[in-house]
Amino acid sequence: MERTQVAIVGAGPAGLLLGHLLRARGIDTVLLEARSRSYVEQRVRAGVCEHPTVELLRELGLADRLDREGLPHHGISLRFDRADHRIDLTELTGKQITVYGQQEIVKDLIAARLAGGETIEFEVTDVALHDLDTDTPRVTWTDATGAAHDLRCDAIAGCDGFHGISRPAIPAPRFYDHTYPFAWLGVLAETPPSHEELIYARHTNGFALHSMRSPEVTRLYLQVSPDDQLTNWSDARIWDELATRLEVDGDFTLREGTLLEKSITPMRSFVAEPMRHGRLFLAGDAAHIVPPTGAKGMNLAVADVHRLAPALTALLRGQGTEQADTYSDRCLRRVWRAEHFSYFMTTMLHRAPNEDPFADQLQLSQLRYVATSTAAATSLAENYVGLDF
Ligand SMILES: Cc1cc2nc3c(=O)[nH]c(=O)nc-3n(C[C@H](O)[C@H](O)[C@H](O)COP(=O)(O)OP(=O)(O)OC[C@H]3O[C@@H](n4cnc5c(N)ncnc54)[C@H](O)[C@@H]3O)c2cc1C
Repeated sequence: MERTQVAIVGAGPAGLLLGHLLRARGIDTVLLEARSRSYVEQRVRAGVCEHPTVELLRELGLADRLDREGLPHHGISLRFDRADHRIDLTELTGKQITVYGQQEIVKDLIAARLAGGETIEFEVTDVALHDLDTDTPRVTWTDATGAAHDLRCDAIAGCDGFHGISRPAIPAPRFYDHTYPFAWLGVLAETPPSHEELIYARHTNGFALHSMRSPEVTRLYLQVSPDDQLTNWSDARIWDELATRLEVDGDFTLREGTLLEKSITPMRSFVAEPMRHGRLFLAGDAAHIVPPTGAKGMNLAVADVHRLAPALTALLRGQGTEQADTYSDRCLRRVWRAEHFSYFMTTMLHRAPNEDPFADQLQLSQLRYVATSTAAATSLAENYVGLDF
């Protein structure tokens, strides 16, 4: 039987970063990932890094490329009533966000782990968790060559995302689930951004988001129906609809380019409580997901493992169980704040599928309030740049 201190299931941002945080504390880990290295490095997802996320990566010496290639942003634009209303994040909070693709962070974390002499078991199958109620749980799996493994450890970190096997291993969890009556059609376009900052646009046809990944690549989203299909959306229709929803009085031209990727993602809020059972600890999307409107998913995964690493270290070194015992409750406080903020941003900006003039007026009133009240704008900005860990 193989042996390690912490078995980490899943090499997304949560699992990879936890590996680095534990290594910095002298804790050995084995990291298992169901997909191939190239698949996880190419998976296009989040792009907004909160201020505390960037600070943590810097502390660990993992932000060299992020600091070179990431795009620091000091504001975002709310576009409605055919006008831009800028929220000056830095003036309101003294902080900024950094636009840097999640897949770039994943590449950096993988490269740093391998350079440090540690490995990642890619393309594992049949992963199963055992003896979670004991001090020596086990993980079994089959590796890419077909060989079976049986690993004994002191704790397991379930960082395997929303569809992983860790959350179902928690007996009798409590689920909170909210689905929204719309989805996001996301595209990656080979064209420079049309505006230097993110634009969150509310239009009578539905929400649109102008974002970016680099000075050459733009990321754009359209609110669509959850049962919509990509086959309904030709490139020309996507550009037409983006131009309509992003239209503004004044100087703005949407730059078009080749579409490199298209996907439709349903919008959902989900929380599973507790985030711990015995020696199994959940982190990131394995325990909770948010609609992407608040740009919180990846950042919550980072916040979880920032708490999990010292908790596991104390537990394994016999320095007390208090941090491990309170891990779930402490994480969930931040999770619920992010759930609320993501819900707030989503409902403020998306059009309900059925015409509801009353809801429309409430939405516009909220947008005008955020755009004109320093108190309301500060609240949005504080949540957007990320509350301190
Ligand atoms: C289209 C889209 C856009 C998004 N935009 C944003 C955004 O703008 N801002 C933001 O902050 N967040 C955004 N998110 C959310 C963000 O991507 C996630 O919250 C983030 O990936 C969570 O990281 P994680 O490590 O917890 O999970 P994941 O990134 O899902 O990683 C889990 C890993 O576990 C692996 N795995 C699964 N099952 C097993 C198994 N049985 N054994 C071993 N490995 C397994 C998976 O292959 C995966 O690599 C977006 C998500 C999507 C889908």
